[in-house]
Amino acid sequence: MKKKFQTKEEFKTEFERRIIEKYGRSIEQAHKTEKYMVLGEMIRDYVGVNWKETKETVAGNGEKQMYYFSMEFLIGRLLTSNLMNLGIYDIVKEGLQDFHIDINEIEDLESDAGLGNGGLGRLAACFLDSLASLNLVGHGNCIRYEYGLFRQRIENHEQTEYPDMWLKLGNVWEVRKPKHAIEVKFGGHIEMYMDEHGKTKVNHMPEQVIRAVPYDVPVIGRDTKVTNTLRLWSAEAADSVINNDFASYMDDVKAICMNVYPDDSTEKGKLLRIKQEYFFVAAGLAQIIKAHLRVYPSLDNLAEKVCIQLNDTHPVLAIPELMRILMDDYAYEWDDAWNIVTNVISYTNHTVLAEALEKWPISYIQQLLPRVYMIIEEIHRRFEFALDHQYNRPDIKYSVAILKEGQVHMANLAIVGSHHVNGVAGLHTEILKNDVFKSFYEIMPEKFSNKTNGITHRRWLLYSNPQLTHLLDETIGKDYQTHPEQLEKLMAHVDDPMLQAKFMDVKRQRKQILADYIKETLQIEVDVNSIFDVQAKRLHAYKRQLLNVLHIIYLYQKMKKDPNFRIYPRTFIFAAKAAPAYTFAKQVIKLINCIADVVNNDPQIAPYMKVVFIPNYGVSIAEILMNAADVSEQISTAGKEASGTGNMKFMMNGAITLGTLDGANVEIVERVGYENAEIFGLRADDVALLKRENVYSVWNVYNRDPEIKAVVEALIDGTFSPEKEDFRLVYNELMFKNDEYLLLADFDAYKHAQTRVQERYQDKAGWAKMCLINIAKSGFFSSDRTIKQYADEIWNIQPIEVK
Ligand SMILES: *Cc1c(COP(=O)(O)O)cnc(C)c1O
Repeated sequence: MKKKFQTKEEFKTEFERRIIEKYGRSIEQAHKTEKYMVLGEMIRDYVGVNWKETKETVAGNGEKQMYYFSMEFLIGRLLTSNLMNLGIYDIVKEGLQDFHIDINEIEDLESDAGLGNGGLGRLAACFLDSLASLNLVGHGNCIRYEYGLFRQRIENHEQTEYPDMWLKLGNVWEVRKPKHAIEVKFGGHIEMYMDEHGKTKVNHMPEQVIRAVPYDVPVIGRDTKVTNTLRLWSAEAADSVINNDFASYMDDVKAICMNVYPDDSTEKGKLLRIKQEYFFVAAGLAQIIKAHLRVYPSLDNLAEKVCIQLNDTHPVLAIPELMRILMDDYAYEWDDAWNIVTNVISYTNHTVLAEALEKWPISYIQQLLPRVYMIIEEIHRRFEFALDHQYNRPDIKYSVAILKEGQVHMANLAIVGSHHVNGVAGLHTEILKNDVFKSFYEIMPEKFSNKTNGITHRRWLLYSNPQLTHLLDETIGKDYQTHPEQLEKLMAHVDDPMLQAKFMDVKRQRKQILADYIKETLQIEVDVNSIFDVQAKRLHAYKRQLLNVLHIIYLYQKMKKDPNFRIYPRTFIFAAKAAPAYTFAKQVIKLINCIADVVNNDPQIAPYMKVVFIPNYGVSIAEILMNAADVSEQISTAGKEASGTGNMKFMMNGAITLGTLDGANVEIVERVGYENAEIFGLRADDVALLKRENVYSVWNVYNRDPEIKAVVEALIDGTFSPEKEDFRLVYNELMFKNDEYLLLADFDAYKHAQTRVQERYQDKAGWAKMCLINIAKSGFFSSDRTIKQYADEIWNIQPIEVK
């Protein structure tokens, strides 16, 4: 690999030169942020050559490229990962040291990129890392949001939201490409006319035109020249402002890139969301078409050279938009255009929760995107025709309809317009086939497949847990770093008492790092000898943080009542953001913090139990949280969590899954065995049965079990807050909606699973062995495996070689 700087000395010379040139200051005088910016720019320039060569190789060899369209890319910080992937981390670290600069301090200056909110966005980020590292050409397409989701603080026990100004210092990784700007059109009306060949022509007379300007971020793989692009679109004023008063036009422009997932409870909010979705899809497609036509004479071979993966339904307007481009701009007939579109596009489903399946009022789409809507209507009409005449299934017409009840059903549109539809874990895909999309599966079974999610083992093991990486290198060699399935070699050593002891020492070091962070940010002392029990994920009723909380209340009450009942010391750690408008979720956060206050300050209880809520959960916090856990809480109501990826990060760092048989937990247990996890509770089919037969009654459980009753009453009797009404909503959701997520139905099973956890933890050798088995079996959950499956089975792309 040709390097700009090969040695520490070369790095130092270049670094010093750039600081002086850019800021007119010596290294000693330069501010920390200036050092960070210069280092980032050096790396970006360093990969510039590879970036250009990748583009040339792709064009020259006619390689097929994949584009991952996603509303989110939760990439976190890039400095460490980029330096590590390039293999220059040590050179840079030592070079900086010579200037008395601590690389960790520089690393901490970078903000987490605020380009997403949770698992779906993090998956997209892991995929980018795997694509480049596997020499595959796969790019990201998204919006350049000015502000991230929000910065969470806890004030008076409650979540408060502050703007997440992640671009405050600028973004060193991006390159603005104004000459590749695209005009995106909204509103207005359609004019149709007949051209001289008797062909119908369509003219869209927009009401508003917004310029989409791309910012390109290089995606650097490990030990490879292949450098892909994450393209982030930013909205700016267009030259051709039509029919708009200028100030309100500028407000519209700004709104598009202001925020990820703006509140969509109002009509205005919904229109904005649709606008965002169309904005990055239309711009992304226009750029793909332009690039294709620079290399090839027509779009006839588009599907041989390009494929697009839709990460959930947010980018599904790509289907009618690509139809529009082909027909209106390039004069394709419907059938030819449809053939291209359905060979380019494939769709990943991420949820089975009915309320999370995207639907938009027809009138909104019609108003904002009149031409695109006409095409959706025609797709709908032709699909209904096919149901009558091709599939002979008029009976399922309603359940698979794209347009019904005044709404556009985005998932149905996605399935009709894609060549592949996949779920993200085995159980999830089965539920799609047998339940949520049963009718579709009956008529097009070959479209459906499973691609179990993964995580990049580079970020989540090699880079964020150097202590464990070192131990693994020492024990099984380094091959697993490039072939994560070889972590399996660890199986030969899991009984080795020396290794077990060394592992427990690594874990203790990681726990100490987390304990220091907790002390520093929250002024809470936690005992690294206690069991670190972690639940870190978005706050949502189906994820059942409340079940964890109810169990904590149970332990607290029991220890208060019975001085002879004491648990093995445990630190319950939570981290979670709640959507700003999700009142229940916010009350649960308040409840956790109120319990923490009571428990941590009770001298009888605190030696045995601490409760910690770590604010502002995001990628960088996950990087110090997952690897410090002994227990990984994955306790969603079975059938509700599509896959989960947090579960994989914990497993790979040697934590035990305490979970239900849901999502990818099923596949984790399949690999480690039931004896090396703690599985409890109702299964997906039990849950389905309970709901179908309507036999569950929360009040029966409540009345039957005085301990459960006491726990539930503690929500409203002032035990944790003098304001007795603080948690009334939580109480009501539980007791007056018949415990929709079956917390009390699973309570006993969870309690017993928790008891087994503490028993097993006291056998240190047995525990260490169990953790080592989890690490050994975690290679399957590397996103490298997932991406190879997508590449082979859906995208039909091969690794390339960049000279
Ligand atoms: C991995 C990850 C998630 C997903 O967690 P789940 O437990 O799978 O819901 C969400 N947010 C961040 C910051 C993550 O790193």
